[in-house]
Amino acid sequence: MNSPRQSDWIARSLKSVWHPCTQMQHHETVPLVPVSHGRGAWLYDHDGRRYLDAISSWWVNLFGHANPRINAALKDQLDKLEHAMLAGFTHEPVIALSEQLAARTGHVLGHCFYASDGASAVEIALKMSFHAWRNAGQTGKQEFVCLKGSYHGETIGALAVTDVPLFRDAYGPLLRQAHVVATPDARTAQDGESAADVARHAAQELETLLQQRAGHIAAVIVEPLVQCAAGMAMHDPAYLTEVRALCDRYQVHLIADEIAVGCGRTGTFFACEQANIWPDFLCLSKGISGGYLPLSLVMTRDAIYDAFYHADVARGFLHSHSYTGNPLACRAALATLAIFDEDDVINRNRARAARLTQALAPLAAHPRTSHFRRRGMILAFDAVIDDAAEAATFSRRFFTAALEHELLLRPIGRTVYLMPPYVLDDEEIDGLAARTQAVFEQVIGK
Ligand SMILES: *Cc1c(COP(=O)(O)O)cnc(C)c1O
Repeated sequence: MNSPRQSDWIARSLKSVWHPCTQMQHHETVPLVPVSHGRGAWLYDHDGRRYLDAISSWWVNLFGHANPRINAALKDQLDKLEHAMLAGFTHEPVIALSEQLAARTGHVLGHCFYASDGASAVEIALKMSFHAWRNAGQTGKQEFVCLKGSYHGETIGALAVTDVPLFRDAYGPLLRQAHVVATPDARTAQDGESAADVARHAAQELETLLQQRAGHIAAVIVEPLVQCAAGMAMHDPAYLTEVRALCDRYQVHLIADEIAVGCGRTGTFFACEQANIWPDFLCLSKGISGGYLPLSLVMTRDAIYDAFYHADVARGFLHSHSYTGNPLACRAALATLAIFDEDDVINRNRARAARLTQALAPLAAHPRTSHFRRRGMILAFDAVIDDAAEAATFSRRFFTAALEHELLLRPIGRTVYLMPPYVLDDEEIDGLAARTQAVFEQVIGK
């Protein structure tokens, strides 16, 4: 039961706040949780109840809520410079962040262009790709290729390369048509096929398209290793290696949308590292500011940058957002990168992920789950539900039951996934696994 104070926050929010990705009427039955504060992996409501943030608040939080080191960096930055425009001006946080990110790609992606949210980073990559070809005299390259089940954001341009019918269908008439090619999702393997076989077949389908249309295609956009919004659809790194080779062979740009999979989620800082490739454009957002402030960016190669470098204004990339390169957000990102190095995070996450996988073994073996899978710090399985009506409400019922077990979990359709911040200790890992199992068994009815 909620206290009168807690109930008052809920009523006021439902009256005045239009919540994202929500059919508001569902809040007649699905609870809304007013958060009073956060600490580490936990969020607290006004009645002192706590919830383990097992999905990192929509995949953004890396080092816990109210992280002392990120807080200290932001407090310091607040007294120096909260914001200044980035056209004609520059500042230390944006310079240092650009340098450090470039260094993490071995300076292959040496230029950073900034925005505030992930969808805008995708828009930038699409526009830059088209414009780079145009500046090179290749005005016919106007089309984009995305994968089945792809998710790249929900602005009109990003939605055009997003293949999630629920998000896309209502706006179909507004969207530019993209080419949608096969997903390398390892779950689609036929009997006897390996994940690498699926990857190769998907790449073959892309090649067939490029053979026919490469002269009209500016770029292929992919979510490396894990198509998160599609339901944590994971693929073999061989897919990325093949796509890189195809893009080189057919003279098409490769855009890697690492908005969700970057910043260590898949077990390396950038997901592309696991395929030993670099794209022409790499989009980052979500975790890059530690989950503190809106920040996104697109990293590019020298060749792309050089295609715009000219005396003529119109050949430049005349794109901007008011808060481009915000110093506070960049400072949060610098503090985040410092923690990666100081705490040897990538290595320590290996032990966390291994323990979590082991603790989830009973769920992996449960007769009502399938496709238990993991890539780095992303773990997922699918609920086996035959009844369509039951399946349609599974996610909401699971979310509600999870709250009763002090967990924030929000399945995508029938896919239950864990994407926790990189701060869980052994006790929290074991508790997370045990509670996830209890919730699953409660919702599925044993
Ligand atoms: C979240 C996400 C986006 C969009 O980012 P927003 O900040 O929500 O606009 C784009 N691509 C991927 C892969 C994402 O996960």
